[in-house]
Amino acid sequence: MQTELVKLCPVCRGTSFQHVFNCEDYTYSHQQFSILQCQSCQLLLTSPRPDQQSIGEFYKSEEYISHTGKSNSIFDWIYLKARNYTLSWKHDIITSRKTRGTILDYGCGTGEFINYMANNNWEGSAVEPSKEARAKIKSQNKNLSVFEKLEELPENKFDIITLWHVLEHVPNPNTLIAQLKEKLKEDGLIFVAVPNHKSYDAQHYQSHWAAYDVPRHFWHFSQKNVTRLFDNNQLLLKEILPMKLDAYYVSLLSEKYKNNSKHSLATPIKALLTGLSSNAKARKTMNYSSLIYIAGHA
Ligand SMILES: [Zn+2]
Repeated sequence: MQTELVKLCPVCRGTSFQHVFNCEDYTYSHQQFSILQCQSCQLLLTSPRPDQQSIGEFYKSEEYISHTGKSNSIFDWIYLKARNYTLSWKHDIITSRKTRGTILDYGCGTGEFINYMANNNWEGSAVEPSKEARAKIKSQNKNLSVFEKLEELPENKFDIITLWHVLEHVPNPNTLIAQLKEKLKEDGLIFVAVPNHKSYDAQHYQSHWAAYDVPRHFWHFSQKNVTRLFDNNQLLLKEILPMKLDAYYVSLLSEKYKNNSKHSLATPIKALLTGLSSNAKARKTMNYSSLIYIAGHA
């Protein structure tokens, strides 16, 4: 594996980083990775990390679930159930803000969300680097436009752009936000969902918190960090919405990691209690396990 060090913070261009703790890659390599903190803006980041040639390898276990759609354990089963519920919930939060139009899902994976939107009167486009995933989407729905790269799409085209747990995976989140802004209509809205390491479940599980998901997650954002990314690009943060189900799912995975995959009857109960606490404590601070940030042109 070739690794690279992060030398420049993508949020504030800071150059000074301090080690916070090590995290294990629990889903694939079982290697340890360092989490560092930017000394200027407090962004957490995974560094050193696999370079762009090496990172593909680390997606092998995740692809397995999303490509086959089969569930092999209680964790996969819960994940797939929650995903189906979440599809209609995402549709509803979008259509309550804009009833119809053009939508781009950036980093769409196997395309369940954009397919759902296209089946509900939206003109759907998607960007997905994986060739296999693109072929699968096209075989499911011929009306969808699926691209390998964002550069292939016209400017000022979209009413809605969505990034569902994508920004934490990309090599330069600031550049990506700048490029996406060019594709957004004047009154368009961009939805960015990312995990929040200031949540109670993150504080509770520390290095076992499943949403650190090293080395696939390069960046670990707070509300302040995402707001700054929008500011950098003359985008205005309009709303923050909670993703309350994530607290339970992430807690369940984190319990599994913490207990070396040994299941006991107490595991789902502990996860449920941590999830409940996380959502309850976040009512005042908005520090839910995952957040959706909605922004438009400033
Ligand atoms: Zn920074």
